[in-house]
Parts: sequence; structure tokens; C-alpha cells
Amino acid sequence: MSMLGFNSSGVGSIEVIAGPMFSGKTEELIRRLKRSQIAKQKVQIFKPAIDNRYHETEVVSHSAHSIEATPVHSSVEILQKVFDSTRVVGIDEVQFFDDNISRIVEKLARRGIRVILAGLDQDYMGRPFGPMANLLAIADDVYKIQAICTQCGAPASKTFRKNPEHSEQVLVGESDLYEARCRQHADYFGEETEQLAFFVNFHNNQAMTGELNKEE
Ligand code: ADP
Ligand code: MG
Repeated sequence: MSMLGFNSSGVGSIEVIAGPMFSGKTEELIRRLKRSQIAKQKVQIFKPAIDNRYHETEVVSHSAHSIEATPVHSSVEILQKVFDSTRVVGIDEVQFFDDNISRIVEKLARRGIRVILAGLDQDYMGRPFGPMANLLAIADDVYKIQAICTQCGAPASKTFRKNPEHSEQVLVGESDLYEARCRQHADYFGEETEQLAFFVNFHNNQAMTGELNKEE
């Protein structure tokens, strides 16, 4: 039902478009929203105010497609701003919202609204980004897309931060700060550290199950 974007039963739905930077999430979000507009459904689009990279009141893709959007400072603000007549709600960069976002999109869907969310599933360290893990769990439909690895041209699921001295999770930037990388080329810790981490985990698990050397 959601892939067709036609919701005759009025039960509402939650769709998530997820992937790394440059994978085409915003493009896909805009495509779905413009089709809803063609179908004469009332559409409202929101984005976190923090994301003013291209435009304050528009969502803009890296390929320069755009659609008007309302910047909001919190997820509750979305609930306050959705009109009774709205049939479709789109939210871009949804990973930047607080944890209440899951309850709010559930509420909107229960009202019969088709909710379409786009966001980064992983942060620059490959960890689930903000509320995305929850949103992916409650979604009726998940569309994961890949970008192209800047190093080798393979499909890329990771967002690589070019200057790792910045360690905050939220650091808004563009290709100046980030690039799409495949797993092979997004080796955050270096293979040696990874092997060490595995070794430590392996032995901790053994210790927990009482299988480790008895004389310890
Ligand atoms: P997202 O919202 O996922 O960051 P956008 O929809 O804004 O992505 O942009 C996708 C577009 O970015 C692609 O259609 C392509 O033109 C461009 N692009 C730039 N770098 C890459 C890359 N490494 N891999 C894929 N597309 C890229
Ligand atoms: Mg985007």
C-alpha cells in the first residue's frame, strides 16, 4: 500500500527512507511528496531547524531538487503545526529529532496520515543515529538506499567523517566534512583495534559463561 502511496482505507502509515549521506534519501522523499501533490493530497513538509545547509524554508537534495518545508525546533512542534486537512506529512533529516518523534509519527499515522520520513540510519561511527532505530522498528515500510563509495565505486552504506578530530555526533556539514564509503573504506578504528576489540569481547563472554581458565 505505502509503496503505491495510495491510502484509500485512511488507516495511515509510516514509511522510512534510510541510508548514508548522498544516497538519495531527500530525492526519494521529494519524489514521493510531489506525487502526492499531483494527486491533490494536502502535503506538509518539516525539517529540523538545525539543518540550514542549503535553505531555511526548503528541503534541497544534492541534485538540487527542492520542495518547501517548515523548519521546526522540536518534534512536538510538528504535532502542533499539522492541519486537520493534511493527508501526507514528510520529514527530512529525521535523525536530528528528539526521541518523542516516534510517538508523534504514530499519532499522526493513527489520524490516517501517510507519514514519510527520511534520515541517516547511522552516524559517522556507524552507530544508530538518534531516534532512527526506533523509527525503523515502528515503520510499516522501510526503504534502505546506498550511495557510491568515493574510494572504490562500490555501493556505500556508511557516512565517513573526513576529519575525525571532531567527535560530536551532530556536526552539520556537507561534502566538505563527509563522504559516502563502503564498509571496507569506512574502517573507523583500523583493523588492528577491531581485532583487539573482538579478542576482548570473546574472552569476556567466555568469562561470563564460566568457560575461562579456572586458575584466574
Ligand atoms: P541524501 O539526502 O541521501 O544525502 P540527496 O537526495 O540529497 O541524498 O542526493 C543524492 C544525489 O547526490 C545523487 O543523485 C547524486 O547526484 C549526488 N551524489 C553526490 N555524491 C554521491 C555519492 N558518493 N554517491 C551517490 N550519489 C552522490
Ligand atoms: Mg538529504
